[in-house]
Amino acid sequence: MERSFAREVQALRLGEGDVFHGEGILAITKALLQSGVSYVGGYQGAPVSHMMDVLADASELLDELGVHFEASASEAAAAAMLGASINYPMRGAVVWKSTVGTNVASDALSNLASAGVVGGALIVLGEDYGEGSSIIQERSHAFALKSTIWLVDPRPHHGTMVDLVEKAFELSEVSHTPVMVEYRIRTCHMHGRFRCRDNRRPALSKTAHLEQPEFRQERISLPPSTYVQEKLKIDQRLPAAIDFIRKRQLNEIFEGDLDDVGIITQGGLYNSTIQALQHFRLADVFGKSRIPILVLNVTHPLVPEEITGFCAGKRAVLMVEEGNPDYLEQAVNVLLRKAGLNTTVHGKDVLPHAGEYVAEVMLQGIGQFLSASSPAGFDTGEISNSVASATSGRARAVDLLSGPVPKRPPGFCTGCPERPVFSAVKLLEKEIGKVHIAADIGCHTFSTLPPFHLGNTVLGYGLGLASSAAVSPAFPNRTVSIMGDGGFWHNGLSSGVSGALFNKADSVLVVMDNGYSSATGQQYIPSSGRNYQAQPTGMSIARALKGMGVRWLRTVETYRVGTMMKTLRKALTTRQPGLKVIIAQSECQLARQRRIKPDVRRKLARGERVVRTRFGVDESTCTGDHSCIRLSGCPSLTIKPNPDPLRRNPVAHVDNNCVGCGLCGEVADAAVLCPSFYRARVIQNPSRWDRWLDRLRRRFVYDPATQPSSAR
Ligand code: SF4
Ligand code: SF4
Repeated sequence: MERSFAREVQALRLGEGDVFHGEGILAITKALLQSGVSYVGGYQGAPVSHMMDVLADASELLDELGVHFEASASEAAAAAMLGASINYPMRGAVVWKSTVGTNVASDALSNLASAGVVGGALIVLGEDYGEGSSIIQERSHAFALKSTIWLVDPRPHHGTMVDLVEKAFELSEVSHTPVMVEYRIRTCHMHGRFRCRDNRRPALSKTAHLEQPEFRQERISLPPSTYVQEKLKIDQRLPAAIDFIRKRQLNEIFEGDLDDVGIITQGGLYNSTIQALQHFRLADVFGKSRIPILVLNVTHPLVPEEITGFCAGKRAVLMVEEGNPDYLEQAVNVLLRKAGLNTTVHGKDVLPHAGEYVAEVMLQGIGQFLSASSPAGFDTGEISNSVASATSGRARAVDLLSGPVPKRPPGFCTGCPERPVFSAVKLLEKEIGKVHIAADIGCHTFSTLPPFHLGNTVLGYGLGLASSAAVSPAFPNRTVSIMGDGGFWHNGLSSGVSGALFNKADSVLVVMDNGYSSATGQQYIPSSGRNYQAQPTGMSIARALKGMGVRWLRTVETYRVGTMMKTLRKALTTRQPGLKVIIAQSECQLARQRRIKPDVRRKLARGERVVRTRFGVDESTCTGDHSCIRLSGCPSLTIKPNPDPLRRNPVAHVDNNCVGCGLCGEVADAAVLCPSFYRARVIQNPSRWDRWLDRLRRRFVYDPATQPSSAR
């Protein structure tokens, strides 16, 4: 795993009255335990990976409470876990990154929502929308609407978030409906505190067993039950939910003296709204606003009377709703018109339809709303100056940098084992021409960015091979599909590999086997060799492929660029029909460095000998054409001014972060580049033999710095 959460796990043990300090996602984890959850599952992905990691580290506490925790094979598997709550009064929660995970889980979610639940069922979503997101930009709201699942979007405040987890379980139980709770990236990582309650041991769990299985025909998602379930959603579950939300005041109203206007906001955007109001001196540092605010901590379903009650008597309201389509704005408009209120609803006319509502966007949008609605008692004359003064910083920064800030696309880590595979493909393409590459989701997706630009399409996690199904026969030559080991177990084996074998596809698949689900923080996967409970799994990618019927299978260490090229060439040209699979194997470098660094530190502290490999460039030999950089893209491989006054091109340079993966040497060799790369061994705490050898070598090496001036 990316990091140990041993310290944070202790915070999960806090009891009644104790004060919890920490990250939002940890507060939510604690809230689950306080709510008496009896099972938790999920699939890793930002911004909620930490919840999985913390629960994995908290196995002792979970065992004490009788809570079952499982790292699910996919989001679909996690959603299916919630099936435990259909017949039994067991509270359960599952977690994943949305909307990608919700896409994967939507079959199980539809069935779950149709059947309904008796135990509280929570889906904790890391809503990865906006700047910094790594996925397609969609909203989870759509899934909530189409499957009739309630959607909680809590105000980012630890106490409120914890309280809403517990209320969400109750909401689920009273309305027999699963509940999604969405948290944006900043909310998950926001630090704060709340007063704890004791953890609750679930009444039914792996240590407090069910007595007998329960069968109810009406809870099976099959006609005729599905017709009844559809009616129940509208006739019983929806009214029960609305009643609960209203009575338990899940949404919040903050009154203000400028009450001829108002703001309705998604709970998750409350802090950004207040921040913008502070800028116009309409809110103080404690969040007290002069404009009344209705905070929708539950964005589906809406409580009609709350909306109409808030808007009654107001000339205009602003609906702050991030993303597209404007579900809430449309719903508010409909509710007001039906109630005969003619309050003007602003929203997407002053705020953008798409993209994250960052501070600058909110400032401009709220500024426009204030100008358009002119709250009585507020001087709108200063609005444009206020916005200009707050947003001028960016223009000034650009000015000072004498041009736009250069883009910094993400890329492979220093020494990443996946990089050499793409160096090999790049080199091979010089020989055999361009190949169509069906890329996949994972660190390897960085191959589509500079300097490689390899990967023609990305269709989803584990779907690289499946996405080549139609395009592959359209080419005279074979295509290459990429799949990570995470994607392989998540979906790739069952969709891509089985589909390709079943349909006798003749193409090449490269499976990146780096040992972990690396892009999400080095979580274990079936081929890591062990699970979260430290039990050996005995599962391997090669065995799975052989079992499925793959006949042409090679395993290559990724750093061996020459061998990788040879194997790829063979796979692309062999006469053997069918799927050709290359398992590109080497440990994720980030995980490796995290694993070995503490060990190295300990050895150094004990005075033990430590050898580190470093690569370097002989600047007198470097031709300055930088092919090595274009074929590698390692962040440690950079440039510096040419020390030769007669040559202008900057020379290649390896900085101090080099982990000595060896790719530089391999690429120089495979691409027959200039012989400027050298490999050095840096020895710390050298032995007597090392010192003697060093002294001997120095006698034969000319070093101008140590020669007497007469000898120079
Ligand atoms: S996390 Fe691991 S696999 Fe991903 S880019 Fe970094 S080194 Fe490569
Ligand atoms: S050897 Fe080259 S590719 Fe590997 S880490 Fe060092 S600079 Fe990067």
